Amino acid sequence: MSSITDVYSPRTTFRCTRLRGAKVGSSVCQFCAVGCSQLGFFKDGKLIDVEGDPRSAVNEGRLCPKGSSTYALNDNPYRKVKPMYRAPGSDHWEEVTLDWMLDTVAKRIWDTRNKGFVEKDPATGITVNNCANIGFIGGSANDNEECYLFRKLFTGGLGILPVENSARYCHSTTVAALSPTFGFGACTNPPRDLLNSDCILIMGSNMAEAHPCAFYWPMQAKKKGAVTIHVDPRYTRTSAACDHHVHIRPETDIAFLSAVIRYILEKGLWFKEYVLAYTNASTIINSKFNFDDVTGLFNGWDPATRSYSKEPDSWDYEYEMNPDGSRGAPKTDPTLQDPHCVFQLLKKQVEKYTPEASANICGCRPCDIVKVAELLAQNSGPDRTSAFCYATGFTQHSAGSQIIRTCAILQMLLGNIGRPGGGILALRGHSNVQGATDIPTLFADLPNYIPLPKVAEGNATLKDYLANGHGFSGARNKADGMWKLETERGSWASLPNYMVSLLKAWYGDYAMKENEYGFQWLPKLGGNESLTVTIERAKKGEVDGLLVFGQNIAVTNPNTGWGRTAIRNLKWLVVCDLFENETASVWYADPNGPKPSEVQTEVFYLPTNSCLEKDGSVSNTERLMQWHDRIKEAPGECRSDAWWTYQLGKRLKAMAEASGLPRDEGLRSLTWSYDMPQGKQNEMGLPPIEGDCDLDAVAYEMNGFDMVTGKPIQGSGGLNRSKAPVN
Ligand code: SF4
Repeated sequence: MSSITDVYSPRTTFRCTRLRGAKVGSSVCQFCAVGCSQLGFFKDGKLIDVEGDPRSAVNEGRLCPKGSSTYALNDNPYRKVKPMYRAPGSDHWEEVTLDWMLDTVAKRIWDTRNKGFVEKDPATGITVNNCANIGFIGGSANDNEECYLFRKLFTGGLGILPVENSARYCHSTTVAALSPTFGFGACTNPPRDLLNSDCILIMGSNMAEAHPCAFYWPMQAKKKGAVTIHVDPRYTRTSAACDHHVHIRPETDIAFLSAVIRYILEKGLWFKEYVLAYTNASTIINSKFNFDDVTGLFNGWDPATRSYSKEPDSWDYEYEMNPDGSRGAPKTDPTLQDPHCVFQLLKKQVEKYTPEASANICGCRPCDIVKVAELLAQNSGPDRTSAFCYATGFTQHSAGSQIIRTCAILQMLLGNIGRPGGGILALRGHSNVQGATDIPTLFADLPNYIPLPKVAEGNATLKDYLANGHGFSGARNKADGMWKLETERGSWASLPNYMVSLLKAWYGDYAMKENEYGFQWLPKLGGNESLTVTIERAKKGEVDGLLVFGQNIAVTNPNTGWGRTAIRNLKWLVVCDLFENETASVWYADPNGPKPSEVQTEVFYLPTNSCLEKDGSVSNTERLMQWHDRIKEAPGECRSDAWWTYQLGKRLKAMAEASGLPRDEGLRSLTWSYDMPQGKQNEMGLPPIEGDCDLDAVAYEMNGFDMVTGKPIQGSGGLNRSKAPVN
């Protein structure tokens, strides 16, 4: 909390009579992942204004029209502020009490989970302790602490596999492209760093309208002399504000970027010292590796499975041999002349993308491609850098990963990664889509991208899992090659630290060396449990219940008719939201839907809090984590998503205690004590909410702490492997 004199000049304070005497709390805009910092002004028990925070390095006090509407989002007559229940076949909502709602929803979850719970995989006999007849779909504007509670309760406690959020639809392709390229599947630079750029190429994004406060930085760079380019099928406000606009056909980004790469290689415009020092261009690839010149498909393509499942070992480097006969380091050719070095293979791959050929594909002129290539090359090198910005115009294509990967190759050729003003800015959508991915509410990962154990012999025990459970290498040679490099020197070398620390955080004193730290209580994953698959399974009647916290899946699914039909096929649906959205009202308000009497889905509506009405943290597009304060009281009986989850968890744990069954041991052991300490004061002087969850305690657990001293650890390097012996 600040006083108004901290955030405004004395002159403004004097003139700003409306805000004089108001208390000020910090918040973060909920509308997009730029993560603009906000100030909420609170007076006489009421929120009176929301402004941009002038102290913030993200937005320096600015808010775009979306962020400026934060006040109206909160003080909104359309909010439903009472818990509501809709019975099967009914044509109306009934208002219910908080206790009735919690008891009934907990019972539905418990009964459904008991019906669908699988203890042993029938095929292998491996302990799996999973359940897939309930789904949980979180929002990507949920706070980090809320996402952690979701994952902990629904996966770690109940064994539910389909736990997802809307990041599945937006930037999955970014992670698949940037993570293997840079070891980091997110935005490489903060938007503010665009001030250091000499050229900024925006593709697949209408940045001026979708991320307005981030677009401020390229415009400032332009004032300093930077060249700005927009390549996009549409002429938008972004095009209008940039120096150059190149119009291309939708879905032709790879042809465009490949032609730029080809031109830069042909004319020798790439940054040779950088490429040799910081990329794998000189590395020799396995002689069996190849690709089809016409289709572009690599060897190992299996048309039957439509995947690269054949010949996995050819996707590797050639290695030197050590004197003892073991494999040594990957072979390199610093002259870049070896026909099987990465550089020559890249040249071969882009050879067909002449400016003329690509212009024909893209619907632009060859000179447009040459112009963009020249501008990028002129503004890259030892003393200049260029940056790329993209958003869902890249990611939401079936070839999204390949588009982004092509962009990454281009930036590495030009020496634009890891340098001020360079980089690739993956502009993310919702306020915490990055955090919801990192924590995460995504089916295949545990927090910090620890892979969820699989239904496989190699994951049957914790020891097996730590040897085989890594994410990247798939079927490659485990004795040496990339697998060995990744597990010995890469981040996977720390997997035992991460995994055992997580198990200790989730199961506390019950996680012991003797019981594999509770490893068997984690559900094991047998297949794809993504959001789209879960909706399809709901349509087939394989999912009985769905909890939707902070997402409107009746609108956001790629095929709304298909999605709405699937939702109406559920036995029960829980929607936790600020508004009675299309998902909550799918039983009566779908213009193409059946009559309410024909919809047998029970619907539970949990009214929730806005960002200003709860504490918590969000991670913006640059992975900057910002805390927001609870600065106003929520209306009616709205409660935060964390409150609902915490209270549901308490009831479910009580049911597990009562059952006494071995399969409920994980839920019984789950640490779930986040009661707000007696007398803990809200900084804005707001009264405590009965039954609220102490988000400081959740954040402390998420960060990790030394179990002897209780001190928070300073980073993942603070995890001590020697304290986590594994049998
Ligand atoms: S740019 Fe994004 S975070 Fe900033 S005010 Fe606008 S919507 Fe909010």
